[in-house]
This record gives sequence, C-alpha cells and structure tokens, in this order.
Amino acid sequence: MICKNCTTQFEITPQDLAFYSKMQVPPPTFCSSCRQMRRLAWRNERKLYKRKCSGTGKEIICIYPEDTSFPVYDHEYFFSDKWSALSYGRDFDFNRTFFDQFSDLLKVVPRILNYSFANENAEYGNLASWNKNCYMCFEADNNRDCFCSYYTYRSVDLIDCNYAVECELCNDCVDIFKCYNLGHSQDCKNCSDSKFLKNCTGCKSCFGCVNLINKEFHFLNEKYSKEEYSEKIKSVKDFSIEDFSEFVKKFPHKFINGDNNENCTGNYLNHCQNSTFCFDSSNLRDCKFVFNCEKIKDGYDIDTYGGIEGAELVYECHSVGRGSFNVAFGNNVYQGLTNAFYCDNCANSKDIFGCISMQHAKFCILNKQYSPSDYKDLRARIVAHMQRTGEYGEFFPANISPFNGDGGNFNSIKSIFI
Ligand SMILES: [Zn+2]
Repeated sequence: MICKNCTTQFEITPQDLAFYSKMQVPPPTFCSSCRQMRRLAWRNERKLYKRKCSGTGKEIICIYPEDTSFPVYDHEYFFSDKWSALSYGRDFDFNRTFFDQFSDLLKVVPRILNYSFANENAEYGNLASWNKNCYMCFEADNNRDCFCSYYTYRSVDLIDCNYAVECELCNDCVDIFKCYNLGHSQDCKNCSDSKFLKNCTGCKSCFGCVNLINKEFHFLNEKYSKEEYSEKIKSVKDFSIEDFSEFVKKFPHKFINGDNNENCTGNYLNHCQNSTFCFDSSNLRDCKFVFNCEKIKDGYDIDTYGGIEGAELVYECHSVGRGSFNVAFGNNVYQGLTNAFYCDNCANSKDIFGCISMQHAKFCILNKQYSPSDYKDLRARIVAHMQRTGEYGEFFPANISPFNGDGGNFNSIKSIFI
C-alpha cells in the first residue's frame, strides 16, 4: 500500500486484514506513522491555560484557551445535571460529509477542562489523577510531592523523572522501578543511594555503573571497599551526563527492555504476547502499533491508556480504556464504552456513533437519541454514506481537532491531513 499522506510504502499483512475484518473497518489508507500523527493532533498533553469555567465563571487551569467556540466546564459542573449533551443533538444530513457535521458539533458541545481527577493541590497538570502536592506532572497517577515529571505512578518526591513507578527521592531518571534516592539513571530496578546507573538491578551505593546486578560500592563498574568508595565519591568533580554517556557506550545493550514477553517487537514491554511494534506498554495481547498502554487485547493503533480494566477490540483511538470494548476512531473515550465508533470525550455509554461529551448514553448519533432499531438502521446508512465519501476507516482529520487553530498546539501540522 502507498500512504495517502506521505506516499511511502507500507505493509498490510494477512493478520492485519483479519483484525480489520473483525472490527468491520476497511484497511487503512495512511501508514502507521501518519495515522499516529493524525490521532495525536487531538492530544494537548501539557500546554495549560488559565481561563474561566463556562458554567460557573470560576478561574480554572485548563487545556483549552479562553477563546474556544465550545464551552469548557470544570469537573463538578461537567458531571452535574445542570446541562445535557443530548440537548446539542442533531439530525444527520446525507447531503454533507460526516466530518463536516461532526466538526459543527465539536464547535458547540461543552468539554471538560482536562483529564485529571481527584487531585489535591495539583491543578497544574493533565492526564494525572489521585496526586497530592504535584506540579507540572503529566500522565501521572497516585503521586505525592512530584515536580516536572511524566508517566510516574505511585511515587514520592520525584523531580524531572519520566516513566518511574513506585520510586522515591529520585531526580533526572528515566524508566526506573522501585528505586530510592537515585539520580541521573536509566533502566534501573530496586536500586538505591546511587547516581549515574544504566540497566542496573538491586544495586546500592554505586556510581557510574552499567549492567550490574546486586552490587554495592562500585565506581565505574569497579568494586571498592566502603571506605575507598566514600573517598572516590568525594573526589568526583564535574562528572556529567555526557561523561557517563561516553562510558555507557563501552557496554553491550539488551535488544529489548522488558520482561516476560512472547513473540513481540518494540521496546519497554512487559508481560506482552503476540504484539508487534508496541512501546512502553504492559499486558498486551495480539496488538499492533500500541503506545503507552496497559491491558489491551486485540488492539491496533492505540495511543495511551487501557487502565486496570483494560480494553478489548479497539482500533485507532487516542486514550481508550477502563473496560471499553469494540471502540474505533475514538478520542478520549476513557471509560466503559461498548460499540462506540467516531466518538469524542464520551464515557460509560453503549451503541453510540459520532457523539461528543456523552455520559451514560445508548443508541445515540450526533448526540441525538434513537430507538434501538432506528439507531441500527441509521448507523448502517451513515456508514454506507461514509464509505462513499471515503471517510469510513479514517480517524478524525487533524484540522477539526479542538486544539487546531488559535491557541492550539498543532498549528505546525495544520496544513496536512485535511
Ligand atoms: Zn504516511
């Protein structure tokens, strides 16, 4: 296949075709990279604005600027009964394209201020929940006293860390698990009181070491007595991350980071099976092109999430999870969706199509309620219409993203994917 966007060649395998057939979608026309860029145009991860909640007038820290055409509500107002997403419902017009009509709906339906919940003194962040006293932490849950960190979970006192789980008192680290008092380190597990470690496990009081397991008082991979090590550490002046990077080059590297994987390609995977080109994920089964997810079964083209309950039979979604099943072309379809295609910012709903900001909905199209049989008929007619217009099987275009245009983050890619 030739990518419709970048014109490079990409492969569609018989297994891919079996998956597309299971999802009842046509094969993609964009290559996986272009598909991902188009999806991520719908993500504002970390650009924050001060504005007023359109419902209460209260000042909020928000992922949308003040001048959006759609209202933005704080969490309490958004989940209250003071407004209804159904009141924005409209008929489908077969003389227009689906994306045109969806774009019109996007301009008016209220949106939630961000995707963070149940935080205390941690309003400067996004995609982060159950945090206390945190600042500028993104994709981070259950942390305390963390700053400027990304993908951190159940951690305390972190600064400048990415992908840290159950860690404490660490700074400038990437991909660390159960570490304590660690600095400038990467790919470490159960290490403590150390600096400049790479791919170490169970090490304590080490400095500038690579590929060590259960070692103590090692300096640049050499063993010293406790006293000698203390002297060595005191004598270190100006050892920089650049110095360590040069030292690391002398050592072999694992071909993949992660444990207990079977028949997988990608990196930073744990407990995954039969998954291809997946990254920073755990507990995947039969997945392809999945990034930053946990517990996904039968998923292709997924950026972020899954959550404890996971998701199954999901395709081309940005942020899908928590018990969702049979969901495709979804943006922030974060919880409890079943049979939901082309939906945005919806949760806990079943049999919905082309809906925005709906909660606890059933049999709705463009936010309008139908009977089960009318829903089924109209959905089939809309899919046939979208097949004729070439829209069915494509994710939402980047140019109708709520982050496109003034104040958005994606002006640089505004000209593509239209
Ligand atoms: Zn492409």
